[in-house]
Amino acid sequence: MRIWVNGGLRDADDARLSVLDHGLTVGDGIFETVRTTEGRPFALTRHLDRLTRSARGLGLPDPDLDEIRRAVAAVVDANPVPLGRLRITYTGGLSPLGSDRGTAGPSLVVALDGVSRRPDTTAVITVPWTRNERGALTGLKTTSYAENVVALARARERGASEALFPNTAGRLCEGTGSNVFVVLDGRIHTPPVASGCLAGITRALAVEWTGAEESDLPMEVLAEADEIFLTSTLRDIQAVHRVDDRELAPEPGPVTAKAMRIFDERAGNDLDP
Ligand code: PLP
Repeated sequence: MRIWVNGGLRDADDARLSVLDHGLTVGDGIFETVRTTEGRPFALTRHLDRLTRSARGLGLPDPDLDEIRRAVAAVVDANPVPLGRLRITYTGGLSPLGSDRGTAGPSLVVALDGVSRRPDTTAVITVPWTRNERGALTGLKTTSYAENVVALARARERGASEALFPNTAGRLCEGTGSNVFVVLDGRIHTPPVASGCLAGITRALAVEWTGAEESDLPMEVLAEADEIFLTSTLRDIQAVHRVDDRELAPEPGPVTAKAMRIFDERAGNDLDP
């Protein structure tokens, strides 16, 4: 595998970052995961906008978007895969003791691996831990993902692929790496960004393309919703067939199936929506 590290393509085995890189020592970094289809990145401009917003939120220098576009093109070229997960990581860089910001400037890593298409439906669990809708990191896509790692491990133990969090007010928020939508009386709803969820790129497109409403939702909505689905870069739109012990239809319901069709059509026609 060839990856981009700080200015050039390298073999993954030879790529080097300092072990004192702030991204490693204190999680002072940000990232984006971009889907590629036949080597074409989807919604790259939106991802780069969000990366810049995350950098500013964390107080990192603005990333050099021209370099990132060059890195993405080089990495995609060097690693031909039908469906790819392109990961852009940008960290605080080298720090003597991990206590103050880097002395050698930020680090940029761009890597790509092949993935398979996600199934149309999946199982999810809910977790009692909360997302903080008023935290310093709320809405930023930082590399401080350990809480998501723990929640995802809990989901996997229970045969599920995603864990859904409430926020501190007990309202439905998001998953470890996805946004959540529910269908009530034929209408689609998703928690607002003010709930503390990440402003997902797939979420924004799904809202725009399906007319979903942003609504403040209690966690209990998961016990009542006619249909539930997730959105994320690698899932696109994925129906939920089980939430905790509640079984929903084994196939995507009619509203979700229509949203999936609209998404596939629109996303296939426009690589940089
Ligand atoms: N929420 C979190 C915490 C995420 O990490 C992600 C994935 O990036 C999402 C939501 C979905 O966002 P997107 O559709 O931009 O992949």
